[in-house]
Amino acid sequence: MSLIVQKYGGSSVAGPARIKRVAERVKRYKKKGHALVIVVSALGDTTDELLELSRQVTRSPSRRELDMLMSTGEQASVALLAMALHELSCDAISFTGAQVGILTDAAYTRARIVSVETRRIREELKKNKVVIVAGFQGTNPDGEITTLGRGGSDLTAVALAKALSADACEIYTDVEGIFTADPRLVKTARKIDRISYEEMLELASSGAQVMQSRSIEVAGKFDIPVHVRSSFSNKEGTWIVKEDRSMEGVLIRGVSVNRDEAKLTVTAVPNRPGVAGKIFRTLADGGVNVDMIIQNIGKHASTDISFTVPKSDAEPAVKLLRKIAGKMGFRDVSFDANIAKVSVVGVGMRSHAGVAAGMFEALGKNGINIEMISTSEIKISCVVKKSDAEKAVRLLHDEFISGKKPKK
Ligand code: ASP
Ligand code: MG
Repeated sequence: MSLIVQKYGGSSVAGPARIKRVAERVKRYKKKGHALVIVVSALGDTTDELLELSRQVTRSPSRRELDMLMSTGEQASVALLAMALHELSCDAISFTGAQVGILTDAAYTRARIVSVETRRIREELKKNKVVIVAGFQGTNPDGEITTLGRGGSDLTAVALAKALSADACEIYTDVEGIFTADPRLVKTARKIDRISYEEMLELASSGAQVMQSRSIEVAGKFDIPVHVRSSFSNKEGTWIVKEDRSMEGVLIRGVSVNRDEAKLTVTAVPNRPGVAGKIFRTLADGGVNVDMIIQNIGKHASTDISFTVPKSDAEPAVKLLRKIAGKMGFRDVSFDANIAKVSVVGVGMRSHAGVAAGMFEALGKNGINIEMISTSEIKISCVVKKSDAEKAVRLLHDEFISGKKPKK
């Protein structure tokens, strides 16, 4: 008998019919003799709907109350799944994060898990019950409800798998696994069988929205193999595992695109020590998350600095910077939301030269202008015009993955 943690995402429990389907799958596993801990997300788009409701009440909700509100979504879905299992004569019990002792830090809406109590869960497993735990939530040391950041049910699942030393951690979603590119954009995209934590993390942070980034970080840190698969089929999905030698044979594991960033340009920045520090300190203190940065070292007295931020941070960032423009002596700040970041990711590029050249050439030959570039050991990202993004993803997928060279 093994202990399996299964997590079902919002789309897998989007309504009563789907909840019943999940219950049937859970029961099948139970019948095979497995001990099961099930983590569920809120039904469908419930979390977005709750957020929208809060917006209709206030423009600046308290973070504590936001967590109080958002956590209700998962509380509803665990209860419904338990009822659906009871209906199938399968013994099950649902719990909130607080009830099973998921302790977090105090950062409302993006709390980190500090520790997980397993006593209550183990007691119920011993009674041969399926234990259902609300994803995405915990409590801080003061006993207040916190949430773990959007997509946080993945983190709940990984943390429970770790705390319970589970034999498997399965993430059920509405796609068959992780793909080499978004199959809606690229027809030749295919399912990846095995991917390293690091590659998955780079893909997730550059636009592939299959699992929450932090959950992948935690899985990697504790070496918990994660199986991402579809709740609508029985096929094997994608295993996210520790990197091994065989992975180096593949140059590029996947191509991703992120359309949720905007590019800001600070113009005529005086060319003297301390200015960049002040600009980015101002943004950091204002809670703005900066991604790519480029600065042209001018031969002149001033230069431009461009960087990208999440779109939702763009306007606040412009405001923050305009406030210090006079004092710091730069001219202005402009922003462009019509950009996209395309990235190629693969551990194979550690040991192969020429990936950057191949990427830039493929884009260049096809008339796609590169506005910014950033690299890590296993990723190369380019900012391009948003209208070029889909074409760029297809080209790069052809160039590096499906193998057929793009037409000139
Ligand atoms: N329901 C939460 C969200 O939509 C958590 C999750 O789905 O994992 O972000
Ligand atoms: Mg959700």
